[in-house]
Amino acid sequence: MRRRRTWTIVALAVLFVLLAAGCGDDKKDSTTATTTPGTATTVAPAFAPGSTMANIQARGKMIVGVKYDQPGFGQKNPTTNEVEGFDVETAKLIAVGIFGGTPESVTSKIEFKEAISKNRERFISEDGPDKVDMVVATYTINDARKQVVDFAGPYFVAKQDIMVKASDNAIKSVTDLNGKKVCTAKGSTSEPNVKAKAPQAEIVLFDTYSQCAEALADGRFDAETTDDSILAGLVQQSSGKFKLVGAPFSDEPYGIGMKKGDDAFRTFINDQLEKIEASGEWAKAFAATLGTLGLPTPTPPKINRYGSTPAAPTTTAAATTSTSTG
Ligand code: GLU
Repeated sequence: MRRRRTWTIVALAVLFVLLAAGCGDDKKDSTTATTTPGTATTVAPAFAPGSTMANIQARGKMIVGVKYDQPGFGQKNPTTNEVEGFDVETAKLIAVGIFGGTPESVTSKIEFKEAISKNRERFISEDGPDKVDMVVATYTINDARKQVVDFAGPYFVAKQDIMVKASDNAIKSVTDLNGKKVCTAKGSTSEPNVKAKAPQAEIVLFDTYSQCAEALADGRFDAETTDDSILAGLVQQSSGKFKLVGAPFSDEPYGIGMKKGDDAFRTFINDQLEKIEASGEWAKAFAATLGTLGLPTPTPPKINRYGSTPAAPTTTAAATTSTSTG
């Protein structure tokens, strides 16, 4: 009898300890986001009614254009069907500023759409099924594009470079591309940049950099040119087939493209970028994505809170003039 009572007491004590531990865990879970340095609050902040932030909150979804074929920035994982990369992580950290929670918990509140270089301005500025709240897609800030869209950031600065077959030792700099067959993407800054530095290069344009890389592998081209950080991903994916020349010839400050004239939204994104840079979340996201390609985590570039710029009469950002199609 006495023994049974002892056991009952022991069992109750164990139950109590387990329950207490369980409660402790719950509590820890619900406060992790506020106690982890820099991780945003678990509670969604209140925004001015009618603001884009409030509208996204009310919709329960933030719609983001990202690349699907650029390892390190935005790549669709065929196994999980999730998009991965630094641009994707940056979008999640912005979504945390709108919905609260953590990058993991907001993932289900982001609808990613595949953006390619040539359709980014359209995705941002035209109403329709492709309309997005923002584009985070290796998107260089420049004046031509600023006529049509606005940019928060920059959140990273790349440099245009060249990728060749690993066996190629003839192409050492951009001027060596004169007389060579070179591919890049339509609607990118890469095309006008290479044209300016190697006017005799025979440039062919593809929709995406991965298509261009396939054509390079097939021997249809001598080189592919675009931002070094994009090429770094393609080099890694090529398992020794390609190499980066390492002769940078432009600065490509990446911005988050958004609707022109929505200054409150731009200020919010810029504030959020500064927050995640100060907290270390930006660096953590970089290390987990581009870092795996061997890129050292840089110091984040200074945010450029430029004044409003007047809109151009048309909605096409004349960033490039296409010559041919791949
Ligand atoms: N950053 C350049 C651009 O925005 C090249 C990369 C890209 O096309 O995404 O045009």
